Amino acid sequence: MTFTTRFAPSPTGPLHLGHAYSALLAYDMARAANGVFHLRIDDIDQSRARPEWEAQIFDDLSWLGLSWPSPVLRQSDRVPRYRDALKTLWDQGLLYPCSCSRADIRAAASAPQEGAPLHGPDGLVYPGTCRPASPPSGPMPDAVMRLDMARALARLTHPLCFHETGAGPDGTTGEIHPLDMLQTVGDVVLARRDMGASYHLSVVIDDADQAITHVIRGRDLFDATQIHVLLQRLLNQPTPAYHHHRLIRDDTGKRLAKRDDARAIATYRAEGCTQADIRMKIGL
Ligand code: GLU
Repeated sequence: MTFTTRFAPSPTGPLHLGHAYSALLAYDMARAANGVFHLRIDDIDQSRARPEWEAQIFDDLSWLGLSWPSPVLRQSDRVPRYRDALKTLWDQGLLYPCSCSRADIRAAASAPQEGAPLHGPDGLVYPGTCRPASPPSGPMPDAVMRLDMARALARLTHPLCFHETGAGPDGTTGEIHPLDMLQTVGDVVLARRDMGASYHLSVVIDDADQAITHVIRGRDLFDATQIHVLLQRLLNQPTPAYHHHRLIRDDTGKRLAKRDDARAIATYRAEGCTQADIRMKIGL
């Protein structure tokens, strides 16, 4: 199988040194393995994606010396594909519509009988307000839908795990514990009304359709990987190897964010930095 990886930025702001590290690491690993490096545009959230940021991504990555096959896959073109995958889960009785607002969830999760509210990869763990006692039937609604985690985990016939070639946050590898998932992840949102599908669903479908063998991305996404591996199993898709890499931090030790314009690649370019300077700054 050809080593195939991808860099999947969201065009919601400038690429910074952390993105440069992720993209260059994936590119270098693909090259070393005689493999393929894809650029993918994670623009499923159309309320935040901007064409000018997308153009800047292409420009910055080319300037860094990267190249990739065309056409580039763009999530906003693939909503019908994501809806098909959702339908597969709906037909298995694993999804249910949810009408809770963030405030509803906050209120329900902090009710005294619930104990201390738990935070998972997507924020507060859903307290289950809209979860039905038995799976809903009929046509799939155009609504926010959550995965019934308990029901999904009960479907598994063998343990969930993945091959980690980097390192988890505390050096853990790819073991996944269903009970932990139930308590610390819970019923994640897979269908969003404004954009058809959530990040977790779209990333799994895209990786499968692009035959990605190695997902190389930051440790900040480590906790999301268990959700992706579960979805791969439920949708009958292969699980790639995962390489979660260290995060690039600023001088105070804080992880870089999109709003850190000071460390945007475009800023360094404007100041006359070379590609080699960038590689040196991020230790590559
Ligand atoms: N689009 C995601 C981000 O910019 C990355 C998704 C992934 O690598 O799985 O954080």
